[in-house]
Amino acid sequence: MKIAIFGAGQLAMMMIEESSKLNHDFIVVDPSQNPPAGKHAKHLQTDYTDQKTLDYIIANYDVATIDFENVDISAMRFLERKIKVFPPTEALEVCQDRLLEKNLFRKLNINVTEYKEIKNMSDLKNYCQGNESRYLLKSRRFGYDGKNQLKCNSKIDLLEELLSECSCIIEKIVDFSTEVSLVCVRQEDNNIIFYPLIENFHEDGILKYSKFPYINKELQDTAEKYGKELLNYFKYVGVLVLEFFVSKDGKLVANEMAPRVHNSGHWSIEGSSTSQFELHVRAITGGLDNKPINFKSSLMFNILSKYPDDNVLNDLESHYFHSYDKEERNLRKLGHITITKNSAEQLESILPECLKVLDN
Ligand code: AMP
Repeated sequence: MKIAIFGAGQLAMMMIEESSKLNHDFIVVDPSQNPPAGKHAKHLQTDYTDQKTLDYIIANYDVATIDFENVDISAMRFLERKIKVFPPTEALEVCQDRLLEKNLFRKLNINVTEYKEIKNMSDLKNYCQGNESRYLLKSRRFGYDGKNQLKCNSKIDLLEELLSECSCIIEKIVDFSTEVSLVCVRQEDNNIIFYPLIENFHEDGILKYSKFPYINKELQDTAEKYGKELLNYFKYVGVLVLEFFVSKDGKLVANEMAPRVHNSGHWSIEGSSTSQFELHVRAITGGLDNKPINFKSSLMFNILSKYPDDNVLNDLESHYFHSYDKEERNLRKLGHITITKNSAEQLESILPECLKVLDN
């Protein structure tokens, strides 16, 4: 099939690489110069809303998908009148706005932390009632990896600046023991697949590393129930990833969802027989099969800001290194490293040393 991907970052790159054996024909649309996926497919360097680009894709491609959620909704709505657009545009719209997302979670009885829309400092003060340290102020839109969010006891100028720049919500800080994510995939015929949960470790709001699998039957069942609700609600097609806190009292609390393949699923390239990237491409082209998926215990470390020196990689356990071939920039995701083992115990035993080597 002929597939157009909006966004040509590392996620698009890995979708193309991981589905090479399926013989699809890809094009990527991205306004930036030399994006990671640009070397793997024809690259249209235009805005996502460029009319000529949209017309060209309608005339020549069967299905459009995305590698990041902030693509323009009007462009996707235009495309979906003529060709298939997966995930559905409604899912994108909801995921672009934390308030709509949390409202939907609540409507579907998916457990969330306390939250409320906040318009100004007086709303914030009224809501916190002197307990500012227990709350976060987050922008409704364009907030990811901890961007555009502040603790409510931050300096007043910073809070006022965020409130004046964007529409915001306030969220109660969850006292969590850990964070987990669920990779879900659905095809049009309602064939649904879930991976076991993944455990995620963040630093300053950015994913530092993931550990697979996180075994907990009760939480797995609850996460899959929530996943199914969302997939069915949107008649979703493709990979959807849900991110949760595990509260100290052992409950899942939904944080957000990503309508796309996700950083916490990168280990699946080597750690599973069908990666999240292949699953996504199979689902949007109607090619999911019911072959059982095999898994290995895996660790995935993000490479942020600066590529590691050769001696760091030499000191590290046997691993797979993925470079996204991007220029170094503070806190930019430049690549990732995956290590697989035959057992969770083996992974656990090497984790401290890996962190030590990579933190140097
Ligand atoms: P987000 O940008 O919402 O994905 O948040 C990034 C990270 O910040 C999360 O993975 C958590 O580690 C932390 N975080 C965000 N919201 C909350 C919350 N309500 N309670 C506790 N930690 C949070």
